[in-house]
Amino acid sequence: MEKIKIEIEQLKKAQDLDRDLYVSAERLKEIPLELEALKQKLESEKNQLKELEGTLRTLQLKQKEKELELGQKEAQIKKLDSQLSQVKTNKEYSALQQEIASLKADNSLLEEDILKILEEVEAAQEEVRKEKERLKLREKDYGILEAELKEKEKRLQESCETLKNQRQESLSQVDPEIRSAYDAVVQKRQGIALSKVTGEICGACKMKLRAQVLNEVMMGQSLVACENCSRFLYIEPS
Ligand SMILES: [Zn+2]
Repeated sequence: MEKIKIEIEQLKKAQDLDRDLYVSAERLKEIPLELEALKQKLESEKNQLKELEGTLRTLQLKQKEKELELGQKEAQIKKLDSQLSQVKTNKEYSALQQEIASLKADNSLLEEDILKILEEVEAAQEEVRKEKERLKLREKDYGILEAELKEKEKRLQESCETLKNQRQESLSQVDPEIRSAYDAVVQKRQGIALSKVTGEICGACKMKLRAQVLNEVMMGQSLVACENCSRFLYIEPS
């Protein structure tokens, strides 16, 4: 067997590993992004709850303000009521009565407002309660997904480590110059540095090879690269 054929056989073993290594490494790169996306999704759900809680607080504040106003007006009515017995003239009496009537009218509107706000507060409380429940379930789901992703990450890291060691092993007998050329193409071409010639075509990039290139591959004197994709060409003995 010519030397270059032996080298190519060794490279082919490395190539099988490098193909898997590339896929695993790419998958590994995605996991931190997926974890981050998961985190952000949960964060946005938490913000949704915060918004609902904010709405509830605003309504409760409005309720308190109206109740305070009602209390003040009621106290005023009480005060005016007690003045009724002390007034001297009919004119003063009817003016006071009018003032009381106007305050009472205000208060009945206020009471209506307060009832309406109370209904809104109750509805908002219900929404907050439901959202909290939903968030609790979501957090549980996210916890499970996060654990799964981290487990997957760990497995991929281990498998990448194993594949790296195995490729080192299978490349250990390869000529250092060929090896570094091979490594460079692996890096550049998504883990695939070898291409099987089928007919007159580069199996990887499907370009028709020049006759001279094809000839060089067949002669097997040196490592020959596809002029289009730079992958190293080999012919499977039929
Ligand atoms: Zn090619």
